Parts: sequence; C-alpha cells; structure tokens
Amino acid sequence: MNYLSDRINLLSESETIAMSRKSQELQAKGIDIINLSLGEPDFNTPDFVKTAGKEAIDKNFSKYMPVAGYPDLREAISKKFKRDNNLNYSAGQIVVSTGAKQSIANAMLCLLNPGDEVLVPAPYWVSYVEIIKLTGAVAVVVPATIENNFKVTASQLKKFITPKTKMLVYSSPCNPTGSVYTKKELKSIAELIASYKNIFIIADEIYEYINYAGKTESIAQFDFIYDRVITVNGMAKGYAMTGWRIGYIGAPLAIAQACDKLQGQITSGASSIAQRATNAAVGNADLSTVEVMKNAFHKRRDMILDLLREIPGVKSNVPDGAFYVFPEVKSYFGKKFNDSAINSADELSMYLLTEGHVATVSGNAFGDKNCIRISYAASEEKIREAMKRIKESLSRLN
Ligand code: PMP
Repeated sequence: MNYLSDRINLLSESETIAMSRKSQELQAKGIDIINLSLGEPDFNTPDFVKTAGKEAIDKNFSKYMPVAGYPDLREAISKKFKRDNNLNYSAGQIVVSTGAKQSIANAMLCLLNPGDEVLVPAPYWVSYVEIIKLTGAVAVVVPATIENNFKVTASQLKKFITPKTKMLVYSSPCNPTGSVYTKKELKSIAELIASYKNIFIIADEIYEYINYAGKTESIAQFDFIYDRVITVNGMAKGYAMTGWRIGYIGAPLAIAQACDKLQGQITSGASSIAQRATNAAVGNADLSTVEVMKNAFHKRRDMILDLLREIPGVKSNVPDGAFYVFPEVKSYFGKKFNDSAINSADELSMYLLTEGHVATVSGNAFGDKNCIRISYAASEEKIREAMKRIKESLSRLN
C-alpha cells in the first residue's frame, strides 16, 4: 500500500541530486569521477562574510528572529536592490528565506491555485516545475531554441497565454543555459504581461553577479509591471554561500506579507547566523570579492567553449552568465556502444558517467531533450580533464 500523499508521489526527485548520488556511488567504488553536475561555486565564502557569521555566534544571535528576517538585514537588502538593480523595495517588501528555493516556493504557494497555469520558458531550472506541481497549478512549457540563444520572445509567450494563465517564471542569467535577457527583451515581455490583468512574474536573479555581458537587468524596473513582479535573489551563487541557505524576495507588499505569513507556519525565519553573515555581504558596496569569482568563471567559460568546439557533432550557444554550458548532443543519439544504442540525453549523460567518468546532467531535467548541462564551477585542470574524457568517450560511439 502506498501511504504517501498524492502530492509527494507527483513530485520527481531532483535530477541533479540523483546524478550526484550516482557519481558518489561510483566514487565509493574507487572510480575517479569528475563531477560537473552540481550547481555550486567551487569557491569558499569570502572571509569578511565568514567573520560576520562567527561574530554572530559569539554575540549570541541564537534566538528566534522576526519571520521575514532581521529588520536591519531587510533594510540592507532594500538598499542593495536600489544600489545594484535600481529597484525600489522598502524593507517591508523584503522577505528573507531559507534559500532562493524557499523564496520561490513561498511566492508560488501564495499566488497559485489548483488549475492555474504558469508559463515556464524551457530550458528551465528543474525545481520550478516541481514546485508548480506541488501547488496544484500546471506548468505550461514554452520552448526556446538554441538558435534563439535559448530565449523566448514576447510573441512566442503570447501564444501560450490562456484565461487560466497566472504566472511567468524565468531565470536570467539562466540555469541551465547561461542566457541573459537584455533590457529590451525584458521590456517587451513586460509589455505583453502587463496587457493581461492577472499574470504575475517571478524573476529569478540568483545568478545576477555571474554575468559576463554587463549588468543584470530586472524586469521590475519597468513601472508598468512593478506591482506584479516578485524579484528573487539569494546568496548561494554570487557569494559562494550555497550551504548558508539564504534567499530573499522583493515583492509588492501584499505578496511579501503573504510569504511572511506562510513562512511563519512552515519554517519561521532563516538561520540567524546566516542572516548576520548575509547582512555583511549585501551591505558591502564593494563587490570586488564577487568580481574575482565572476572573472574566474568567465575565463573557464571561454576555455570550456573552446574545448567543446573541438568535439565533433556538439553544438553550443555562448552563455553570457551563470556557470553552465548546455550543449546540444543529439547528433550522438542512435549511435552505439558495445551494441547498445544511446537514444536520449538521459542515456548519453549516463554513458558519460559510467564510461567517461564525468558527471553531467541530462537536458531532460530542464525541459530540453537534446542537450546536456555541464557545470564549469570546477578548477581549470578538472574542466580540461573532463572535456578530454567526454571527447574520448563520444568518439567511441559509432
Ligand atoms: N534558482 C536557480 C535558477 C538556481 O539555479 C538555484 C540553485 N540551483 C536556485 C534558484 C536555488 O538557490 P538556493 O540554493 O538559494 O535555494
């Protein structure tokens, strides 16, 4: 008898986590696996942020705090939004949560009813679709192509809008494609959404600082859509703070208050120590530590693109941000290894793991069946070796 709820049975396991578990299994057997499957910077949290965390422990920041976050942190985030994004969110419009993942889940649970439709441009970040399922709403996937640098246009989105459409969710810079929407592109999307009354936007800007094309543009900057946008950001990527678990939103007041209420019943506020460390990070207008990491990612991006170009039959866009490449590998589908055919991105990424000893993630997890995601948040040496292995194992297919 299956005693688990329909809700949990509907949910898929995170593919990135599944892949990393498989690679850990192989590693436990003594096989040297290069893991390029995870969405995690390989840097350490900057020292000044760590110091603030340590001080928080010593100063006994160990009690419950206001559910939406310490007031001075919300104030600091409000200033950060103004400083970096030219967005006006008062402290009351900020909610600090246990990771951007929770920020997104909060916003979706607060806005979506069963049967509502959510536009999800693909390739998309895996968890959007799963969280949408949890709310009982329906993800409407809007496919973008490699030819269009994996970006959707307003006219494409329009074709998928119905009376049930309640939300659009996207990330820019994008996980998994690295694509970054320009101000002009966002404006035309904003104009489209604004022409409907009830559609909200979750703008996931967690890769804001890992952008090689310039400044990350926020869709909330356009006044005519501002009151329907939830801007999501967090500490995980730009500050190499994945384990600290801090995300936040800037949102219309009523939505921020709803998220506060929801979080008050589920998790309460995010970790007090992590919040103090975050205060030091976002309060610091000197972004040089963040820049150093971005520059390293930029160099690796160029390197991995060069190495990808050496592999026959693999096609890639030039990602402007995040730390992933998302090459199209479909020319290998139908080829064989030891008489068994590889027919999908799932099978290809599994082959690369078991035969090439490199962990990647199938594009299927991100709504694109022709691609795989390779993270370059790893040392140059590891990237070089991994690409050599991938090239060799692909050349063995015939
Ligand atoms: N959005 C995107 C696009 C991400 O890639 C991630 C992390 N993989 C998140 C949100 C979640 O971030 P956090 O670790 O802060 O929950």
